[in-house]
Amino acid sequence: MKITWLGHAAFLIEGRDKVLVDPFLTGNPKATISPDKVDCDIICVTHGHADHLGDAVEIARRTGAVVVSIVEMSMYIERCDVESIGFNLGGTAKVKNTSITMVPAFHSSSIGAPGLEFSAAMPVGLLIDSEKVVYHAGDTCVFGDMKLIGNMYRPEIALLPIGGFFTMDPRQAALATSLVKPACVIPMHYGTWEPIEQDPKEFEKLVSASSLARKS
Ligand code: ZN
Repeated sequence: MKITWLGHAAFLIEGRDKVLVDPFLTGNPKATISPDKVDCDIICVTHGHADHLGDAVEIARRTGAVVVSIVEMSMYIERCDVESIGFNLGGTAKVKNTSITMVPAFHSSSIGAPGLEFSAAMPVGLLIDSEKVVYHAGDTCVFGDMKLIGNMYRPEIALLPIGGFFTMDPRQAALATSLVKPACVIPMHYGTWEPIEQDPKEFEKLVSASSLARKS
């Protein structure tokens, strides 16, 4: 399995399918690829904010990828003439050769349309099983049920926000890591703009310190 960070919360997970998550590329100062170059089979969107929904509709139109999101987001995406699968928290959708499970994230969600910003149901985290189980936490603060998510789904890889301000900061994300207990953790949602500047080395140090503490 190959995981490529495309900047901010956007990842391309290549396992049994090519799964693109939160493809905010246009207008993303840290994007590593342009939206017209991405190839994928499935697009997952954790919530409606522009830095997550991003280029999902345009990429789906070009590639024919199916878009996966919470049901109300999915209704919006279908109105954009794109195939979409909408389900809800605790549910698992089998999409092509990948299983996707929706879990809570503590945040907000809205979709911007010209002259209007409307609420778009709940934000979510996702467990994406496409060879290995990857937990994309979406935008969230740390919460105790991350331990339950770790116990139930045993993700090998966790993608956790560390930027602070809109989400967890490095200290909270280190605590989240100790709750989820993945074999590998990748920080995201930092360094895109000034309010979410963070040093990933700081996160690395905190994760190492907490795993040492767990062993003693
Ligand atoms: Zn957000």
